[in-house]
Amino acid sequence: MEQSAAVVLVVEDDPSIADLLDLYLRREGLRVHLADSGERGLELWRLHRPTVVLLDVGLPGIDGLEVCRRIRATDPRVSVLFLTARDEELDRVLGLELGADDYVTKPFSPREVVARVKVHLRRAGLADRAATPSATAAIRTVLGDVVVDEGRREVTDRGAVVALTAQEFDLLLHLCRNRGLALSRRQILDGAWGTDWVGDERTVDVHVAQLRRKLPDLTLATVRGVGYRLD
Ligand code: CA
Repeated sequence: MEQSAAVVLVVEDDPSIADLLDLYLRREGLRVHLADSGERGLELWRLHRPTVVLLDVGLPGIDGLEVCRRIRATDPRVSVLFLTARDEELDRVLGLELGADDYVTKPFSPREVVARVKVHLRRAGLADRAATPSATAAIRTVLGDVVVDEGRREVTDRGAVVALTAQEFDLLLHLCRNRGLALSRRQILDGAWGTDWVGDERTVDVHVAQLRRKLPDLTLATVRGVGYRLD
């Protein structure tokens, strides 16, 4: 079992994030190697040839984008999932013209990252055998004209795909899972983006405003003194 487990390399200089990802990925039966710098990441990549690389952008020394370039120069098919913290980092990652599955923005939920890693493993033909079919099946939520496809991580409005950021998608997904319930901003923060999230609860308002702008047909109600409710 141990021999056939897929290998994931985590290149992240923030030990709290690295440890959290390590914990969640191991729990899925994956073999995990941790590197805290770009140089170490390249070393471990050469040594272990992981199927998926979780790559922080802001690293001491060689940054994540350069690590990706060097890895891809040798193996163009390797799956790289970027972990981006700031808008300017995300801009640089998006400049690489990657798919939506190829980056997550911090703060993120470790469960979400694990789900994405599984998508990459499936693509690589090395789906985690421990994964149950129900965990990998596409879950669709229909909200009038709006369809939220969890498996494809895609939202359509009247059949047209609506571009959402990873954070907006996670927010919408959490609201879908708790449809009809009034959720506080804190519940939304923890539920949508993970309990390791720290910061201003008003971030929720900003993302909700974005969702309303992008999906005007959504019945996303403000619950005064509490937070929000998706009907
Ligand atoms: Ca970093």
